[in-house]
Amino acid sequence: MAKDETLECSFCGRKKAETDLLIAGLDAHICDKCIEQAHGIVIEEVADGKSDALSSEIVLKKPVEIKKFLDQYMIGQTDAKRVMAVAVYNHYKRLLQKNTKEEEEEIEIEKSNIVIVGETGTGKTLIARTIAKMLNVPFCIVDATVLTEAGYVGEDVETILTRLLQAADYNVDKAERGIVFIDEIDKIARKGDNPSITRDVSGEGVQQALLKLLEGTVVNVPPKGGRKHPDQKFIEVNTKNILFVAGGAFSGIDRVISKRLNRQAVGYSASISEDKVDEENLLQYVLPTDLKSFGLIPEIIGRLPVLTHMNPLDEKTLRAILTEPKNSITKQYQKLFSMDGIDFTIDEKALMYIVDKAVEYKLGARGLRSLCEAILTDAMFELPGSETKELHVTKKYAEQKISKAKLKKLKAVS
Ligand code: ADP
Repeated sequence: MAKDETLECSFCGRKKAETDLLIAGLDAHICDKCIEQAHGIVIEEVADGKSDALSSEIVLKKPVEIKKFLDQYMIGQTDAKRVMAVAVYNHYKRLLQKNTKEEEEEIEIEKSNIVIVGETGTGKTLIARTIAKMLNVPFCIVDATVLTEAGYVGEDVETILTRLLQAADYNVDKAERGIVFIDEIDKIARKGDNPSITRDVSGEGVQQALLKLLEGTVVNVPPKGGRKHPDQKFIEVNTKNILFVAGGAFSGIDRVISKRLNRQAVGYSASISEDKVDEENLLQYVLPTDLKSFGLIPEIIGRLPVLTHMNPLDEKTLRAILTEPKNSITKQYQKLFSMDGIDFTIDEKALMYIVDKAVEYKLGARGLRSLCEAILTDAMFELPGSETKELHVTKKYAEQKISKAKLKKLKAVS
């Protein structure tokens, strides 16, 4: 008894009577309060270590290497690749920099969120996804039109981050360095250029809600998304280091650009009007002001400072997309068939036929896959487990299968 009373915590010196619990070690004791405190320190240290580890997980290449990486997966689109490579490089440099406090206060590198203008199926999503893959960061795609449908914003915009959290397996540190692709940003545009006449409140409302997210703020994110789980605990996510890439077709923007270029041509400003304007691809001349006149509010444009475009895909590019990228469509089918021991080949004329159909149906690159799917579904159904160990697709074979497939359905995919 007497010995017990003299026992004390070897860390804080509290007597046994002053503690709720005193645990004995080999030559020392520790009280409940010191255990709690030590536990807190352990958690903090581990978290610090983790974020350092995360930084080293991000594989940051130089812009030239980023473009080279993109070249493996994407045909053409040189302008977009260069602009994206620089923006991404700067963004992650900003994120990985370890500044002292004073340095941070002096020069703050701002976020380089990106907006890509280009017709559907020209690779806007692909470029963002490929960069995320290269950097080994979580990536998610959200459709801006969903935000519009839900009308008034608040929690709905936060569900963007729910997706990112899911992509990061709920690792908040990882999510906070991820990439979010916001598709169809043009669909939340304010309708018309004159806000006082044709004010589209919900579109503008969504834009306002997005502003904070793009800029960087701490958001309470419902981990399972929207309204179905009212009792879920929120997870705090800081969007400061999340890279947002917005994409949109902005259909009709070519007319806006053309109008501006014509105005410049008759005005005094010496600009591209001196060179020959490429009427076939006006998107290459896109400027932030064009987005404004299309209906994005100036604040949003300001927070998407990097603007680039995707060129329309011509036949040559479509043909290359079928076979050249590292995981091209034909290579994917080859792999699928080879898993069943089937040797899949396709001849040049058949490939050109697929390209022609994609152009005819105005399906773009997105249509290439639907067309291949229509051509190969029968074979993929019948051949596995059969005696046939070879499939060679000719133009005739492709024609037969396409005419058999429900063309209307194919067209609808666009
Ligand atoms: P968007 O987001 O512009 O609508 P996506 O990035 O989803 O278009 O592209 C649609 C499909 O077309 C993707 O599966 C992608 O593989 C393919 N694709 C589009 N452009 C290219 C390209 N330049 N190189 C390779 N594949 C492409």
